[in-house]
Amino acid sequence: MSRMCAVGMMVVAAVVLTATAHAQTAPPFATTKVEGTENVYIFRYGNHQSMFVVTPQGVIATDPIGLRRPAAVAYIEEIRKITKAPIKYVIYSHSHFDHIAGGKPFKDLGAVFVAHKNAKARIETLRPADVVVPDQAVDRKRTITLGGTTLELLYVGKNHSDSTLVMRLPKEKIIFTVDWIPLQSTQFRVMADTYIPDIEEGLNKVIAMDWERLIPGHPGPGGRQIGTKEDARAALAYLQDLSAAVKKATEEGKCYADAERDVKLPKYENFANYGPFLPMNIERYCDFHNRGI
Ligand SMILES: [Zn+2]
Repeated sequence: MSRMCAVGMMVVAAVVLTATAHAQTAPPFATTKVEGTENVYIFRYGNHQSMFVVTPQGVIATDPIGLRRPAAVAYIEEIRKITKAPIKYVIYSHSHFDHIAGGKPFKDLGAVFVAHKNAKARIETLRPADVVVPDQAVDRKRTITLGGTTLELLYVGKNHSDSTLVMRLPKEKIIFTVDWIPLQSTQFRVMADTYIPDIEEGLNKVIAMDWERLIPGHPGPGGRQIGTKEDARAALAYLQDLSAAVKKATEEGKCYADAERDVKLPKYENFANYGPFLPMNIERYCDFHNRGI
């Protein structure tokens, strides 16, 4: 083995160690105040995270992130360390249970649950255990004003689900939106429930909005909890490059197995889950280009 190669391997080993060390040393949950704001916080439990806003008239919480775990109890205790003001709202980011289950402790405190109308309809149909049914539904837009804070709930169309809200704090120039604009990461597994090509249209709409910081539903590599427009542009570029490469593979008759083996996107090799999830993301685009699914 050449000296160059040995050095290269050491660098790779160090990167892997850093990522593993972060996962091993991070406490089970933590609350972080968003720098430069007076009242915006991120509650993280395991690898999920949720935004909450504290005002003198009450708290606006979002996803309880409590699927088969006591996250909401910890979430409420963390809020109570900051304020005794009532928790007025719990707003669901979208309909997926790993983000919205476990909200009962918030309901018991009298919080009003809000979600996009498609999320409310789906929850009412499926009646998943431990998911509080939303009290109120949002269609295209709703603005919540509480204690001097304004929070917009915006629907920009179908993307990672048909019920994803973009929650925007216009004064703070922060958005919270979950699972479809990951930080330096591929899309999740086979992109179940994802609408193509609508997701690209939605990304363009979000990029055109007035905001500076993005809070996603999961931290990125190294535990990074907040992104920027650069992350949104990178997420869009990844989908466009993936789509173009899989379209070509489809035309060459390579879907599924040969496409999953041959399509590489070296520009995105540093994305989280590039190794395990790229072939699954390719499968999703094979279905789109091959069958119009
Ligand atoms: Zn999701």
